[in-house]
Amino acid sequence: MEQTFIMIKPDGVQRGLVGEIIGRFEKKGFSLKGLKLMSVEQAFAEKHYADLSSKPFFNGLVEYIISGPVVAMVWEGKSVVTTGRKIIGATNPSESAPGTIRGDFAVDIGRNVIHGSDSVESARKEIALWFPDGTVGWQSSLHPWIYE
Ligand code: UDP
Ligand code: MG
Repeated sequence: MEQTFIMIKPDGVQRGLVGEIIGRFEKKGFSLKGLKLMSVEQAFAEKHYADLSSKPFFNGLVEYIISGPVVAMVWEGKSVVTTGRKIIGATNPSESAPGTIRGDFAVDIGRNVIHGSDSVESARKEIALWFPDGTVGWQSSLHPWIYE
């Protein structure tokens, strides 16, 4: 089954959106396989966003991610990478549809509350980076009520 890496950024934690965001993934029917509240250091944030290191917003992005605790999660389910990105909404909250997390809770691109892996390959790398000790192997008893 496909997995994705989702992170509630420091603004999402400070603004008390952790329960709301987890609830959206849970109610959709995805399964939580890893969850931790943690602060990350600069080198770790730079590694997570290594693909964006040449972008003009990179330093500000790293400062943002290390500015407070984040909630790192692994969610599992059918097409969870693509569907997770839809639940999150467009990168720029001005363009995120209402009903998406960024559309409902964010205004500025540099404070857009949440991260989600953009492909199965990035998810694999990000999960390995954030959960080096692995995740929790379990299956929800609701599985047959969510999957045909
Ligand atoms: N970002 C920014 N300014 C930009 C583009 C991106 O501050 O012009 C930040 C924003 O927080 C975004 C993150 O950099 O979520 C990573 O950018 P990416 O293009 O990967 O967007 P995402 O995958 O998060 O939607
Ligand atoms: Mg991205």
